Amino acid sequence: MTERVSVAACPDRPGGPVGIPRDDDADVIVVGAGPAGATTAYYLAQAGLAVLLVEKARFPREKVCGDGLTPRAVKALVAMGVDVGPGSGWLRNKGLRVIGSGMRLEMPWPDLDSYPGYGLVRARAALDETLARRAQAAGAKLIEGVTVTGPVLDAEGRITGVTARAGAEAAGAADHDSERDLDSQLTFRSRVIVAADGNSSRLSVAMGLLKRDDRPLGVAVRTYYTSPRHDDDYLESWLDLWDGPRLLPGYGWIFGMGDGTSNVGLGLLNTSAAFGNTDYRALLRRWLTSMPEEWGFTEENRTEPVRGAALPMGFNRTPHYHRGLLLAGDAAGMVNPFNGEGIAYAMESGEVLARTIAQALARPSREAADRVLRGYPRALQDAYGGYYALGRIFVQLIGRPQLMRFATRHGMSRPALMGFALKLLANLTDPRGGDAADRLINGMTRLAPNPR
Ligand SMILES: Cc1cc2nc3c(=O)[nH]c(=O)nc-3n(C[C@H](O)[C@H](O)[C@H](O)COP(=O)(O)OP(=O)(O)OC[C@H]3O[C@@H](n4cnc5c(N)ncnc54)[C@H](O)[C@@H]3O)c2cc1C
Repeated sequence: MTERVSVAACPDRPGGPVGIPRDDDADVIVVGAGPAGATTAYYLAQAGLAVLLVEKARFPREKVCGDGLTPRAVKALVAMGVDVGPGSGWLRNKGLRVIGSGMRLEMPWPDLDSYPGYGLVRARAALDETLARRAQAAGAKLIEGVTVTGPVLDAEGRITGVTARAGAEAAGAADHDSERDLDSQLTFRSRVIVAADGNSSRLSVAMGLLKRDDRPLGVAVRTYYTSPRHDDDYLESWLDLWDGPRLLPGYGWIFGMGDGTSNVGLGLLNTSAAFGNTDYRALLRRWLTSMPEEWGFTEENRTEPVRGAALPMGFNRTPHYHRGLLLAGDAAGMVNPFNGEGIAYAMESGEVLARTIAQALARPSREAADRVLRGYPRALQDAYGGYYALGRIFVQLIGRPQLMRFATRHGMSRPALMGFALKLLANLTDPRGGDAADRLINGMTRLAPNPR
């Protein structure tokens, strides 16, 4: 049985600048309510569009992550009106502590006009729910517990909707029609569909958009331990990850959660020979045995299973607009290849995407709207293309153990060089003005060879 669920008829539907075509359920369907989807939905709803945000899980839901937020992510949160002030449950950090080659360096976040001077830590269960509720408060219709199962295509192969399946507990969906059999197949239609369904992005795959083999990919695992280090006010990163005699391209992290536990994990890049044949859990265990016992990173203190997932980096799924489908966040392969950060880029791409869609849907014809939507991949390319191109070179270089060892040993003893590295790796510069490091990084980003 196939049923239709409409937000168009909902009393809380915001009045949009464009009328929803008669057969559509919303102006825009956003699949996945992680940081990318929730941010996209928030800005779309703010622009007055009717948005259906479809999420397979129910909040609060866990997401495998390091839970660390750089000033880039803080800026995106503040822009959405999220209260990150003292007492609101966020643990602030002042910068990054790097440990490698027997040295330890504490580097404050750079002092910039464009970004705040602090980072944050928050469990993803809380962060993601906060963002999804922001989207809801802005007027997006959030449907939880509903899994999108595939695209609905028109005669030209263009996506015009999605099929979905609801579990018996689906929240939001039940508001529409309590009589409905929630296990039945649902169909939602809209003019534009956004895939914000994360790293695997089944919807993109169903539309023929696979991961690119020529783009970097990381794998990371993490868990939590009760630890006296839980309220650390620096994010800590360990550069010495050894596989026997080989130094691996990646890093380990210890991020205090401020709740009695620390998030501890490690990530590796696919540019090393070790990538496909490493037992990540064993590597994590071995790395942790080198830690002082009083930090408490022992089996008795572990509070969660060790879980892992992939990090799709440097635009490893393109094109970002294809037959009516637009990609954001991990679905678009937006993780920063230099440091594995993905939340900020998921949110930033969501905002760019929402602003593009709002303009597109105000155009009088589908052809005119399409021209505007084609500007989205170009906007992403302009904003990140050069930087990700540099990142792709970086991951190739550090995939060579001898180069990685050289960089760690020589960099760690030169604080000025490490300050530059922090700006480069965290993508934190002022675009105009700024200091010599900012100008050098911005110049390198502009000049980087940048194939599409
Ligand atoms: C171990 C690890 C550590 C990391 N540490 C950090 C870190 O410290 N800081 C950082 O910035 N980034 C980190 N990242 C990366 C970060 O987690 C991702 O980049 C980020 O979650 C991307 O957000 P997203 O919204 O694109 O995708 P996701 O957060 O994956 O959200 C996708 C959403 O879509 C939903 N969904 C999926 N399929 C469907 C479907 N068919 N129907 C409906 N809903 C669907 C999912 O349930 C999910 O809610 C880490 C990643 C890993 C694996």
